[in-house]
Amino acid sequence: MELLFLQPIFKERIWGGHKLKTDFGYALSSNQTGECWAISAHKNGETCIRNGVYAGMPLSQLWNEHPELFANDKPREFPLMVKILDANDDLSVQVHPDDEFAQLIENDLGKAECWYVLDATADAKIIYGHNAQNSDELKQLVIDGEWDKLLKHVPVKSGDFFDVPTGTVHALGAGTLILEVQQSSDTTYRLYDYDRRDASGNLRELHLDKALTVIKSPHKEGKTKLEQRDLGLEAVFTSLTNNQHFQVGKLEINGTLELTLNVAYLLISVVTGEAILNGQTIKKGDHLIVPNQMRKLNFSGYATLIVCNEVMPKS
Ligand code: ZN
Repeated sequence: MELLFLQPIFKERIWGGHKLKTDFGYALSSNQTGECWAISAHKNGETCIRNGVYAGMPLSQLWNEHPELFANDKPREFPLMVKILDANDDLSVQVHPDDEFAQLIENDLGKAECWYVLDATADAKIIYGHNAQNSDELKQLVIDGEWDKLLKHVPVKSGDFFDVPTGTVHALGAGTLILEVQQSSDTTYRLYDYDRRDASGNLRELHLDKALTVIKSPHKEGKTKLEQRDLGLEAVFTSLTNNQHFQVGKLEINGTLELTLNVAYLLISVVTGEAILNGQTIKKGDHLIVPNQMRKLNFSGYATLIVCNEVMPKS
């Protein structure tokens, strides 16, 4: 049984930059690459397996045809997505719906997400939450265009983590490089775009009605309390979030580590360094899935991994 490495795909964005090329070493010609879809089975951008007997196979096909790799016994979509986002400019202020709203209105999943800050310039900020106490006040501040009063700006630095539950107003700010774990969804409602115009002089489309419907008021912070656990002398695990959709953690390996997997399958993104995992090299910029059959994990090397697994919906 082999690890399942994914072949990332890339999206040009007007706010994108060059760090996916210069920092992560991906072979890109553009200097406006905003998004690396690193692990995705979503129809709007699907990753394929890069290695082994399933090489070239789209992740959704692997998920459907080989449920044993994921210990999945229900017909459903692959639930998670992992991305790297390079914000060279401010992103529009947005919000995502929950499962119930998204399935009813968009035929998509809801989009809970979370951010691990890989890199940030000294003055980098994000927008995370708002100051309105209730939905009437929220609506009034939006109608009046009182964005400075409404939006919460938060300074960020490398290593910070933010849980972004559905209904949370948020935006990445210029100078942030982020690893994002999210539900497999591509539904975004844009609330505000700084009145910017594109090359043809047009404002970007906003989705005010839907945004105002799904924004939660007052803003409630997602859980961002980090819990660290030493795994012997040569590894540290930090729990980043454990919400109703996914668990995400940071695993720092400085030597060797043996682990027994206690989830059905595990998503791994290597964000610094290089290591050997069960005889295969994993290095910065690699994204892979540990299949269900691989219960023992033997690491050796020096690397930081963001690991995540789904939390099964309550039925
Ligand atoms: Zn978002």
